[in-house]
Amino acid sequence: MTQLTLNPNTLAFLENKPLAFFSNGEWLRSGQSIDVVDPATNQAVTQIAMAQPQDMNDAVSHAEVAFKSWGATAPAKRQALLQKLASLIRRDEDILAELESIDVGKPKAEATGFDVPFAADSYDYFATLAVEAQYEVELGLKVTDSHTVKKPYGVAAFVFPWNFPFTLCAWGIAPALAAGNTVVIKPASETPLSTLYLAKLAEEAGFPKGVINVLPGSGSVAGEALISDSRIKLMSFTGSTAVGRHIGEVCGRNLVPAKLELGGKGAAIICSDADVDAAVEGLTGAITLNAGQVCCTASRWYIHDDIYDEFVAKAKVAFESIVLGRGLTESAQMGPICTEKQLAKIFECIGDAQAHGATIVTGGVRPSDESLSDGNYITPTLLAGADDNPWAIEEIFGPVSFLLKFNDEQEVIERANRNLYGLANSVWSQDLAKAKVLAHQLVGGNSWINAHNVFEYGLHYGACNKSGCGGGVNSKATFEGYLRHQSVAAVR
Ligand code: NAP
Ligand code: MG
Repeated sequence: MTQLTLNPNTLAFLENKPLAFFSNGEWLRSGQSIDVVDPATNQAVTQIAMAQPQDMNDAVSHAEVAFKSWGATAPAKRQALLQKLASLIRRDEDILAELESIDVGKPKAEATGFDVPFAADSYDYFATLAVEAQYEVELGLKVTDSHTVKKPYGVAAFVFPWNFPFTLCAWGIAPALAAGNTVVIKPASETPLSTLYLAKLAEEAGFPKGVINVLPGSGSVAGEALISDSRIKLMSFTGSTAVGRHIGEVCGRNLVPAKLELGGKGAAIICSDADVDAAVEGLTGAITLNAGQVCCTASRWYIHDDIYDEFVAKAKVAFESIVLGRGLTESAQMGPICTEKQLAKIFECIGDAQAHGATIVTGGVRPSDESLSDGNYITPTLLAGADDNPWAIEEIFGPVSFLLKFNDEQEVIERANRNLYGLANSVWSQDLAKAKVLAHQLVGGNSWINAHNVFEYGLHYGACNKSGCGGGVNSKATFEGYLRHQSVAAVR
């Protein structure tokens, strides 16, 4: 076991090995467990019990029973419980940030600056929508005396990836719970800790048993059992396009609506009139955030010919100044990659990009610092090459940006839009009016201007094409998506 300088409460949480899962208000173990590994050391920090198909089956049964009362609970009661949960998250921010740091590898400062507080805000935001919503709408029609009643669906199932376990869970379950659905959650096997801690806080907040269930388990075993359970009324998946496609197929067979938030290959268009220093700073921050394991990050940088040399020289300096280190050390700006497997994949992608003609401007190696040799570190990488390089097209999911040149703004929009993903893009220019026109033309769920990775509750975050379908998150539309419409009509 790794020696950790952690908050005593974090250590106490990790001690009760293997950590049990939470189903119907009870903490259970299956008899099967796995190690939870710190990517900074590749040492186990604890073990977790792995739910089996029967456990998932039982959780859905309990969530179905719990729905009968939760779905009929007054919105003000749901609001109060969600707000209580948000306040407990804020109380335990330090513990949650440490768990996220040792599980995912991210700097603790990133988790305290974004992951944890922004997740707490999600529960508050949707708690307010729960009481503001109109659950019955008179239609005022001619032929019928009619109204629409909005009702929660029932049991909503959630499967999450390993890059932002705590935040993505909040983005997913807060609107579902606020609307009156019950939830069964399968976190990623690699990063279950903060979601298990959330279950502990949900228990303390006083959510009725069976409303929130958290069961880590293998994707192909427990996950498969959950997604193919025909009793679930909604499926929400965040993760890779390959697994998303499979989940969409399974849910299609069961006629369960599936919300799929998948991968991306975001473009940044850096115009000749961009503030070069600000663009370098913003985009370096975006691609090194969470060591580049961010679905919506910008990993294709199209730079105008006039500023290409200046931009690349400055980006090289910025990349080389990023301090790598264990997430728990204060100086670390970028931590290790979450898993050894993902690190190996990133190196493979870089090698293959070179084999297809790309050159490395900087990075692409393990850091020379001996103290980092046990962790999954890679130096932030700039590749330069052509549009048809496979790694200018496909997601790498690491701190790797692909540099491309352009001369004409309309032509570059067309080039950027050839990509089959459709998650998030950005335009960098000091001419705001022009930037808005270009931002409108980019195909994707999100078009940001002079920034990348922009989030705010109320600002819809969605996707199209290979990046997903079925809804998006963080807005009023997300909340409404967790309510089904029922028409009640009498002929006049
Ligand atoms: P992944 O391999 O697709 O895994 C995601 C989740 O699916 C994990 O919990 C995994 O379980 C589970 N799973 C795997 N096979 C399954 C099956 N047959 N049935 C049910 N569940 C199954 O994705 P990842 O590698 O963890 O995450 C990286 C990907 O997520 C990237 O492509 C990234 O772009 C995308 N992402 C998208 C968004 C967005 O908002 N659009 C946000 C974050 C990440 P195990 O952990 O047990 O394998
Ligand atoms: Mg881990």
